[in-house]
Amino acid sequence: MRFFIDTRGCPKNTVDSEALEQALRSAGHTAVSHPHSADVVIVNTCGFIDVAKQESIDRLIELGRDKRPGQRLVAAGCLSQRYPEEVSADLPEVDVAVGVDAWRTLPELLDTGNPAAIPVEPVPSGSLLRFPASLSVLNQWPASPRKVRGPSAYIKISEGCNYGCTFCAIPIMKGLYRSKPLLQIIAEAKQLAHFGVRELILVSQDSTAYGLDRKDGTSLATLLEELAGNVPDLKWVRVMYLHPDRLTPRLIERIAAVPSFCQYVDIPLQHAHPDVLKRMRRGHLIERTEEHIALFRQLIPHVAVRTAFIVGFPGETRAEFDFLVEWTEKMRFDRMGVFTYSKEEGTPGAVMSDQVPEITKERRRKRLMETQAHISLEIHTRLIGQTLTVLVEGVEEDSRYRHRQGTSVDLWSVGRSHRDAPEVDGTVFLRGRHSVGDVLTVRITDVTAHDLFGEVV
Ligand code: SF4
Repeated sequence: MRFFIDTRGCPKNTVDSEALEQALRSAGHTAVSHPHSADVVIVNTCGFIDVAKQESIDRLIELGRDKRPGQRLVAAGCLSQRYPEEVSADLPEVDVAVGVDAWRTLPELLDTGNPAAIPVEPVPSGSLLRFPASLSVLNQWPASPRKVRGPSAYIKISEGCNYGCTFCAIPIMKGLYRSKPLLQIIAEAKQLAHFGVRELILVSQDSTAYGLDRKDGTSLATLLEELAGNVPDLKWVRVMYLHPDRLTPRLIERIAAVPSFCQYVDIPLQHAHPDVLKRMRRGHLIERTEEHIALFRQLIPHVAVRTAFIVGFPGETRAEFDFLVEWTEKMRFDRMGVFTYSKEEGTPGAVMSDQVPEITKERRRKRLMETQAHISLEIHTRLIGQTLTVLVEGVEEDSRYRHRQGTSVDLWSVGRSHRDAPEVDGTVFLRGRHSVGDVLTVRITDVTAHDLFGEVV
């Protein structure tokens, strides 16, 4: 059977789609590059916040509208996991809804080998994996070989989350925290490095909790140390989603000592005002976070620190928001994402009083992003004349860049430095054509608040 997978949402969904693709290939099905030529079109949906949910729903409706006779449309992933009945009832174009473990359930469903034979009526919600479920199923991890798509690759090191942040629906969709076996991660990393991957990006909901649920001494630090020892070809191991509440000076010292640890830390803080953090049930104290970030900056001199904030959480006063802005001016983050609070049913925040008007949320998001843009430009301007290590990812075809710097540059290659995680941070444009996967030393010659421009030394 020919299938096409459309991925929405976060890098964890990208990893899940890859696992699903490999599972379907191993079951003898064929991946096609366009939905029209597929017998089964699968949308790996996102169910995190309103805008992301709407994007998935719009895509399902769009693909549903273009469905050929006999073609089947599958809604997989977080949206189906969170709203199985609604997906089946409100989206008649969807033939099958499967949850976040599609890699495990969909091959069985497709085994009929004839798309028309796939059950047309929605699968009764009872059969969808719901949380809590039997641990044995929860602890199954896709084991199929990874497909390499460039010089960097994601590895999802765990699933689920044990925190109960009052704005977050992820535990509803993903269940409790469980770590992927360390040996399986090492094997996957070796395979990826063998096929030319130079940067590994570790993703999860809470990377700092890695291994703790296994109670066998495994931890994020041991994982990074084992990766450095067993997969020496990796240039960078980048860790996303460090939970501020679990950081300790000992963990930071061990992480900082790992040679392949990328000089980049992603610590989603969500807010800075103590009262807002309490209402969010984030658990961390801002003073301790300041100490931890200072320690990272002391132990890793050129470390880039990324964070993310939610503005407009219920009850957020003007004073609490101003505190956040002033605090970010003091902390001077290298990279930042700012989101407006999304009222998610089933979360405590959704029933809190003093919901902030959308226009106020948007105004606050804009102001915080503008504050950060100034800081980023100042930080980038100080990089002019300095050199950075850059991983080349491709060539920039966009002619807008050709005339940058007043001279006509025929070709720019694009890459990222240690300061840039894929999809969320900036790009380094370097003159000339360079090979994908090259790791080059680049002297920075020009900057914007988001991107850098340079030439190979
Ligand atoms: S730690 Fe992250 S994933 Fe877990 S509940 Fe909080 S926001 Fe959600």
